[in-house]
Amino acid sequence: MAKYRRSDVESGQGLLLAINLKEQLLPGTFEYMLEDIITTKIDTSMFDRKYKNDHTGASAVPPVVLLKLILYGYSKGCMSSRGIWELNKNNIIAKALTGDMDMHWTTIADFISGNSKEFGEVFVKVLTYCNELGLVGGETFAIDGLRLPSNASIEMSGTKKQLEKRLQMYRRMAQKHVERHIKKDERGELEEGAKERFEQRQKYLDQRMQKISSFLEQRDEKLGKCGQEIQSNVTDNESAMMHSGKGIIQGYIGIAVTDKNNQIIVNAEAVGSANEGEHLAGLLDSSKENLQRAGVKEIEKRTILADSNYFSEENLCICEQRGIEALIPDIQHTRRRAQSDERKRYEVEDFIYNETGNYYQCPQGKTLASKGTTKLRGGEGKMYQASLTNCRVCPKFSQCIRTKKDRTQINQGRKIMITKSNEPGNLCAMMRRKLSTEECQQKYSFRIQIAEPVFSNIAYCKGLNRFTLRGKQKVNGQWQLYCMLHNLGKCLPAYTEERKKA
Ligand code: SF4
Repeated sequence: MAKYRRSDVESGQGLLLAINLKEQLLPGTFEYMLEDIITTKIDTSMFDRKYKNDHTGASAVPPVVLLKLILYGYSKGCMSSRGIWELNKNNIIAKALTGDMDMHWTTIADFISGNSKEFGEVFVKVLTYCNELGLVGGETFAIDGLRLPSNASIEMSGTKKQLEKRLQMYRRMAQKHVERHIKKDERGELEEGAKERFEQRQKYLDQRMQKISSFLEQRDEKLGKCGQEIQSNVTDNESAMMHSGKGIIQGYIGIAVTDKNNQIIVNAEAVGSANEGEHLAGLLDSSKENLQRAGVKEIEKRTILADSNYFSEENLCICEQRGIEALIPDIQHTRRRAQSDERKRYEVEDFIYNETGNYYQCPQGKTLASKGTTKLRGGEGKMYQASLTNCRVCPKFSQCIRTKKDRTQINQGRKIMITKSNEPGNLCAMMRRKLSTEECQQKYSFRIQIAEPVFSNIAYCKGLNRFTLRGKQKVNGQWQLYCMLHNLGKCLPAYTEERKKA
């Protein structure tokens, strides 16, 4: 029988190796590029102003080292500061990136939570580098949001009234808890460790009551965009309760404005509201600023592609004022597209308005006369109606009138209701009509290809599927780090190619 040598590792024996840390970063890998870009190509002097130890105090861990370590940790799906600290202790690549610099995990935590503004600046610098590599097209962008839970308790959410009720509930629970313990004590039924468990539970309930009551004393009601009260959150009042692919979560929406050419994120912002559409104006302005700072060439008209969350008259008006071509469908768009041409029902947009005669013309060229103002489902609008005789003999009857009756049994012609949302000149109505054309539909079809892989890369491939911080500003900084990491990953092929040429 053949004899083979046994390695010492099999017996569990450790090794003492002489390692050149620099050699651990192999050309062509993400960590090699990270080391090079962050150290030599990105100016990180913006972090310096936070340090006041020029003359006194201990030397600090260089921000460049922390930034490299955090980005490397995130690329491995490691989101907690302790996890990143562990990585720095045990992972040779992390050691090579930090130059085997030891640091406490709180240094990492403080750096992540205390430099949101600076991360924004680094994000733009990374974007500038992406542009230098020729990865940013600057013509078409997709805007979309990723809903992620944050470090906020969903149980501590509610309106003021709901929170008051919850406080009462905790008070009752605490009272019952004490009574139960006293009764057991009187009967001599207290088992070993019962006192500790009782105190632990009491401490938990006291903390909860304390948190809710001080929150109710200090904070006013949280109001939504229309002035109605929305749910507050005791642990992080800037976060919001929202629907996501994984049910209801308490967290933030990480919005990314992504360039079409190479899926480079040109703007990243986290918002603590369930309606991402209301942030479009701010997003467009900050995206423009980022592109200018990154030196992306100006083009005459930029195009944005967004989903139905952004569909509103206000948003379309904002795009028009800024000279941006917007392709934003309404919520019924997919349903309409799914219908075959024969089954498609004529919508209001298919009827043409004649201003002089104040009538509409149907796709069959027949007139729909004005029937005055009318109320429908709480809304008010102008009613127009076709003649019964024309509709009964119309070849497109089934496409125009939704009824189970035979055409001979109907007693009125097709009616259309013109409200504010579909009157001529209304931007929503114009957008619906625009997106029904093949050309625009073709353009819009790129939205999923641009935006969704970016979120899959961040949340699924990298495993960055939650925020570990509280407060909009801190979460925003973390989201910019996630997006920066995505952009750096996109640079890798172009960077490696450039290194080969050099
Ligand atoms: S059913 Fe009436 S309104 Fe509709 S297309 Fe025919 S004629 Fe025009």
